[in-house]
Amino acid sequence: MRTKEACLQELKTKGIRLTRSRKALISFLVAAHAPRAIPEIQTSFQKEGIVFHKTTLYRELEFLINEGIVKEVIVSGEKRYYELVGEHHHHTVCLSCGDIRDIVFRENLLPIEQALSQEDGFQVLEHSLEFFGLCRMCKI
Ligand SMILES: [Zn+2]
Ligand SMILES: [Zn+2]
Repeated sequence: MRTKEACLQELKTKGIRLTRSRKALISFLVAAHAPRAIPEIQTSFQKEGIVFHKTTLYRELEFLINEGIVKEVIVSGEKRYYELVGEHHHHTVCLSCGDIRDIVFRENLLPIEQALSQEDGFQVLEHSLEFFGLCRMCKI
């Protein structure tokens, strides 16, 4: 995972203005260590007294996605979450509370991608993998 300083430095190098809200958004995503949805981001900012209008937040996230700082995680083709671009990883999603977490996957999926290419002639460009279930808290 990239540090806040690394992200800010990258933007600075590109000559991108580091507004207060932009800095706050990056700090939030660095601290989250997991994908976050728009309402969660808004609530967190409200607590800190930063008013982030939904449209502004969308625009800001879109901007950071285009700059390669933020990545959009789409779960089940509908729910959208945002996280910092980092090493490739996968997610667990709780079906009860909606908690989404990053997971480090020991298995190497490259042989599967190679098999798809050799057996089905399908060229994999990327993959995303989510495990759905119940989190530690909801399991009880
Ligand atoms: Zn849960
Ligand atoms: Zn993630």
